[in-house]
Amino acid sequence: MYEDVELEIIDINSEGQGVAKLSGKVIFVPGAITGDKISARIVGEKKNFSTAKMTGIIKASPDRINPICSHFGKCGSCQLQHLKYEAQLKYKQQLVTKNLQRVGKFDITALPLNPIEASDKQFGYRNKAQLPFGHQHKVPVLGYFHARSHEIVNVHQCHLHHPDFTEIVLSVRQAVIDNKIPIYLPEKHVGLLRHLIIRESSFTKELQICLVINSYTFPYSQLFSKNFEALNSRLSEYQITSALTNTNMAKTPHIFGDKNKKFWGNEFISEKIGDHFFRVAPNTFMQVNLSPAIKLYNHLKEKIPDNCQTILDLYCGIGTISLFIADKAQQVIGVEANKQAVKDAKNNALNNVQTNCKFIHGKAEDIHNQYSPEVIIVDPPRKGLETKVLRSIKIFSPKLLFYISCNPATLARDLRDLTANCGYKITEITPFDLFPQTTHVECFVALSKQ
Ligand code: SAH
Repeated sequence: MYEDVELEIIDINSEGQGVAKLSGKVIFVPGAITGDKISARIVGEKKNFSTAKMTGIIKASPDRINPICSHFGKCGSCQLQHLKYEAQLKYKQQLVTKNLQRVGKFDITALPLNPIEASDKQFGYRNKAQLPFGHQHKVPVLGYFHARSHEIVNVHQCHLHHPDFTEIVLSVRQAVIDNKIPIYLPEKHVGLLRHLIIRESSFTKELQICLVINSYTFPYSQLFSKNFEALNSRLSEYQITSALTNTNMAKTPHIFGDKNKKFWGNEFISEKIGDHFFRVAPNTFMQVNLSPAIKLYNHLKEKIPDNCQTILDLYCGIGTISLFIADKAQQVIGVEANKQAVKDAKNNALNNVQTNCKFIHGKAEDIHNQYSPEVIIVDPPRKGLETKVLRSIKIFSPKLLFYISCNPATLARDLRDLTANCGYKITEITPFDLFPQTTHVECFVALSKQ
């Protein structure tokens, strides 16, 4: 049994845990922040680091505040609610800096790194919720995964969303319990309900609900339709206008399968981004915090010269960026791997009468050299750019390259390759806080061909 030790927290790691040192060894302490003096018990020892459980705060950091959510610490959705917002921004700026230094091996003093752009909302900003169904002591639960396990925290509030989301979660959970609707059991691969997805449109105030199910049929559509109708009279600002099932019969941690089926209202909700309207489906990508995301899109647009011939928008999703920047070029070509997203991108271009945008279903890795774009935009998922994509960029050799990233580690890795091997120079890096209360940070990077 270990004794309590006294620790001074000197940093916060990329998972939001406090970092201390004891006899030269690094210790990670969940719940602690830079500037805290704490008592803690070592609970795990690895070769290069230990983990400790905080047992008390001896002197609180000046950056420490009381988290507003009662689930904070257990729920894995937020990591930084106990940190003042200014300190969150500083933390994210440092996260970007450290990755550029350690992973990218850049001399940070020589990089054009701007201060992070804050989010106008610090709570209630998320337009999408994804909650797994599960059991606790044989009772159905619906919530978010625990911070450090696959247990589900049976939430009764979440401050990252509009309060109407909570109404829906409480009501769906109750309907499941009252009607004994079977929950999916991953270990046995039986049962029905896997996930609840809620999406909102900030512009039309529509809500979309999707139940991900382990079945091609859904015997509860009438029950839920009635439930949603009744719910609408209780919601304060939004209205449910679309309800679907998504069938996922695979043994997989991935949330979605391929098949969506509407059972109530409309198939899509509609969101406005810039001057364009976009159809929103449960299983396509859209930035979760739109207001600062639009700031980022505007920032990108300002950097693109007028009258370009061809712009390539890789990882284009539902065509958000393509349409946003369409009037900068003769043609914009979007490439996207998600079939539903490509279909929606084509429809979005059509519905917005944006005739110069083309969308191709396929992987960014597989694009061929049939275009000569002056500008390439890449906005990949967390794993960053595949070697094949980096090779293609080198061959295409556009004058300007814009990289939008949600993972500073893979961004730093790719920037090393783009600058060392592909002849690019970084002209700007600007972090954007699209995810307050979490450890996530978005970055905008502009590069130009030397
Ligand atoms: N630029 C869009 C979407 C960015 S999210 C926006 O701002 O809304 C990243 C997108 O990349 C997702 O839509 C995902 O489906 C897609 N994607 C993931 N892997 C891909 C690949 N290998 N090739 C092309 N698209 C991919």
